[in-house]
Amino acid sequence: MYYYSTRDRALRYSAAEAVKLGLSREGGLLTPTQIPRMDRAFLESLLQADYQERAAQVMALYLTDYTLDELRAFAHNAYGPDKFDTPAVAPVRTVDESTYCLELWHGPTSAFKDMALQMLPQLLSAALGKTGEDKTVCILVATSGDTGKAAMEGFADVPQTKILVFYPKDGVSTVQETQMVTQEGANVGVCAVVGNFDDAQSGVKRIFSDEDIRRTLSDRGYILSSANSINWGRILPQVVYYISAYCDLVRDGKLTMGDKVNFCVPTGNFGDILAAYYAGRMGLPVGKLICASNRNDVLTDFLRTGVYDRNRPFHTTMSPSMDILISSNLERLLFDLSGENDAEVRGYMEKLAKEGRYQVSDKIRAGLDAAFWGGFCGEEDTAATIGRYYAEKGYLIDTHTAVAANVMEQYRAATGDTTPTVFVSTASPYKFCDSVLKAIGSTPAGDGLALLDQLHAVTGTTVPRRLAALKGKARRFDLACEKQAMDGVVLDFLK
Ligand SMILES: *Cc1c(COP(=O)(O)O)cnc(C)c1O
Repeated sequence: MYYYSTRDRALRYSAAEAVKLGLSREGGLLTPTQIPRMDRAFLESLLQADYQERAAQVMALYLTDYTLDELRAFAHNAYGPDKFDTPAVAPVRTVDESTYCLELWHGPTSAFKDMALQMLPQLLSAALGKTGEDKTVCILVATSGDTGKAAMEGFADVPQTKILVFYPKDGVSTVQETQMVTQEGANVGVCAVVGNFDDAQSGVKRIFSDEDIRRTLSDRGYILSSANSINWGRILPQVVYYISAYCDLVRDGKLTMGDKVNFCVPTGNFGDILAAYYAGRMGLPVGKLICASNRNDVLTDFLRTGVYDRNRPFHTTMSPSMDILISSNLERLLFDLSGENDAEVRGYMEKLAKEGRYQVSDKIRAGLDAAFWGGFCGEEDTAATIGRYYAEKGYLIDTHTAVAANVMEQYRAATGDTTPTVFVSTASPYKFCDSVLKAIGSTPAGDGLALLDQLHAVTGTTVPRRLAALKGKARRFDLACEKQAMDGVVLDFLK
C-alpha cells in the first residue's frame, strides 16, 4: 500500500518511507491511498486474541512492506509487562450499563501517547533498514506535555536516532516537566520554549520546511523526522485500541457483533479521534464520534459551523495536552471528506496560514455532520466532573478524561442518543495531582512530586510505578529559548 500527501497526491511513498519522513516536504500529511476494510470474520478472529496480536494484525493491513512477524515482535516489545502495568494493555472499564471507559494510560509515561510511541521507534528503526538509509534520524517534537516524554521514552538509546523535544515553558504540569527534564539516554535533548504549544509546533514545522537547515543537517549526516501525530506511524497504532475495545465489549458479552458504539475522545491535535474515524472507515461499527474540547473550543465551533477560526484567545487550562488552536490532523479528515481533493485541502491550509481561518465546502460539512458531534467543557465543569465521578462512581479520572466524560453527557442530553458509548481516558490522574486533588475536595499541600503521595493517601489508588520513581531522579536539562531561536537550538544539538 502506498501513502500520498494531503496537499499533493502526485507525491507517493511506501509505508517505510512515510514513517521515516514523518511529514511530506511541501507540508502535507502522508495518508494511505486506500483505507483497508475489515470484514466480520476479521473482527471475529481478533476476539480471543491478546492486544499484541490485535495490534500486529491491524497494522499489517496498512504496513504492507513490513512482515506480520516483524509487527508481532514490535507489538510484543511495545506492550509487554515491563512497559504496561496490565496485561490487557488498554483495558475497558464498565462505568454503567451503556457507558464504558477505555483506559489508555497504563504505559511507562502514564498517558495515552505511549500507545503509539512505544511502537513508532520500532517502525522507524526498521524503516531505516528497509529504505537503505545511512544517515541518523533526528526526531523533532513539539509537545503540549505528554508527547515529549513518551517520545523520549520510546526513542532513548535507539540506534541511528536522536530526539529533541520542545515544550511550552509555562504550559505543562510539574509532573510532566519533571518527567522530561530527568529523561535518561545519550541521544535525547529537551528545551523549554517561551510561548505556548502552537508556538512550539509552528517552530518545528518551520524547521521541517526550511531547505537551508535540511541541507546543513544533511551535510552533517542527519535527516529530520517527526514523532508528533502528523507522522502516520503515530496514528496507526492508535487505530488498534478502538478495534480492541470493540472486541473486548463483544467478547465480554456487553455488545453483539455488529452493534454500534459511540466513542467520545478528549481532543487536541485531532490525532486520537482521527484514529477512531479510520477505525470506522475500516468497517468497525462506529456510531457517532464525539469530539470533546476544553475551553479552547475551536473544534466545537468548527464542527457546528464548518468554519475553522483560530483567531481567538489561547487559554491555559488544567487539561494542558488539549490546549491547542491548530489541530494538525484535521487536515487528514478534510482530505478524506473532500474525496481526496488535494487542491482543495491545500487551499484551506493556505488560508489557515494566511488568515487563520477557512470555511469548508458543503460536501465536507455534510460528512462532518454525519460522523461527528462536537462539544466543550470549561474549567469549573471539568473539576466538577472529576468530583462527581469520584464521589458517585468511585472512579478517579484525570482532567482530560473529565472533559470527555462531561461532553459525553452533554451529547446525550442534547440528542437523546442511547447508543452504548466509550469515553476515552487519556492520562493517569497522577499526572495532574494538583487539579485532581482540588476537584475531589482536598487542599494540595506542597508542590510537585509531594502531591503524588497526597493523592495516594486521600484516594487509596496506586501511584504509577514510574511516576513514584521520579522523586529520586536528577534534573539533566535546563535549556530554554525564545520561539525565534528554535532553529539555533536544533543546529546546536546536531553539531
Ligand atoms: C495528547 C493528549 C490529548 C489530545 O490528543 P490528540 O491526539 O492531540 O487530539 C488528550 N489527552 C491527553 C492526556 C493527551 O496527552
